Amino acid sequence: MVEREIEVSDYVSPSKLSDYVINPYVGCPHACRYCYASFMRRLTNHEELWGDFLDVKRCSKPLGRKRLTGKTVFMSSVTDCYNPLEAKYQSTRRILEELAAIECELSITTKSNLLLRDLDLLKARTALFQSSATLFAAPSEEKSGIRVVSSINTVDEDFREEMDRASTIAERFDMLDACRREGIPTILFMSPIFPYITDFRAIVARAAPVVDAVWFENLNLRPGYKEDILAYIHARYPQFYERYLDIYQRGDLTYWSALKEEIVDYCERVGISYQIMFHY
Ligand code: SF4
Repeated sequence: MVEREIEVSDYVSPSKLSDYVINPYVGCPHACRYCYASFMRRLTNHEELWGDFLDVKRCSKPLGRKRLTGKTVFMSSVTDCYNPLEAKYQSTRRILEELAAIECELSITTKSNLLLRDLDLLKARTALFQSSATLFAAPSEEKSGIRVVSSINTVDEDFREEMDRASTIAERFDMLDACRREGIPTILFMSPIFPYITDFRAIVARAAPVVDAVWFENLNLRPGYKEDILAYIHARYPQFYERYLDIYQRGDLTYWSALKEEIVDYCERVGISYQIMFHY
C-alpha cells in the first residue's frame, strides 16, 4: 500500500449526487473489483493498482457552516471514508467533528464497520436535529441530520471476499443494526446487483429488521473492469457466462426489466421501503 499526504484547497465539492460531497481520501483500499470510482486512478496519475494507493487529503480551509447549512452532504463518492487507513489517519473523524455543529443532512456510505468508532458523533447529530428546527426534511423523511448507508450485494461471504477487502457481510449487518438501535436511519444499498448471483430476497429478508429502506442498483460493466468481471464469471460461474454476454455484449436488458418487477412485488409484499436505481 502506497500512502501519502496531500494538501488540497477544499474538502468540499459541489456534486450531482447531493448538494456537496466530501472525499477525505483519493483511492480506496477496499479495492472492489467493480468500483465505479476506479477511474480516479488514471485521473490522479497513479501507477499502482486501484486499492493499492491512498492519498490522505489535508486541508486548512474550514468546511464552511454557511454554505453547508440546510444542504445535503454525501461522504463519500469516490472513496470509502471508513477504509482501514482511516483508523490511522482519522481524517473522517476530524471532518465529522467539524460537521458536528452544522445543520446539514449528512449521508455516509461505507462497507466498513469502522464507522462504529464514531457512533458518538453520529448520535450527537441526531440529537442536534431533534433539539432544533431544521430547514428541511431528510430524504428518509425524518429530520435526523444523518443516515448511514451500507452496500451489500450478497449474503455469500466467499463471493464477498472475492469482490472486496472491506468488512464481512455479517459485520455490515451488525453495523446497520447498531446504528438503528441508536436511532440513526439506515439504508441497505444493494449495489451492484450481479445477475443470477445476487439473491435479493435473501438480502432483503436479512436487512428488514435493521434498515429503514433498501435501494437497488444494477451492475454496469464499465471499460476499466468489464474484462476482469467477465473473466471472473467465466472462471467461477461458467453456467452464467453466456447469460452475462447476453446482457453485457449483446445488450439484452430483459433480465433487468423482469428483476425490477420481482423486486417491486417482493418489497410490497414484505412491506419494506425501496428505491430502484437501475441505469443501463
Ligand atoms: S468501497 Fe466504494 S470506493 Fe471503495 S473500492 Fe469499493 S466501491 Fe470503490
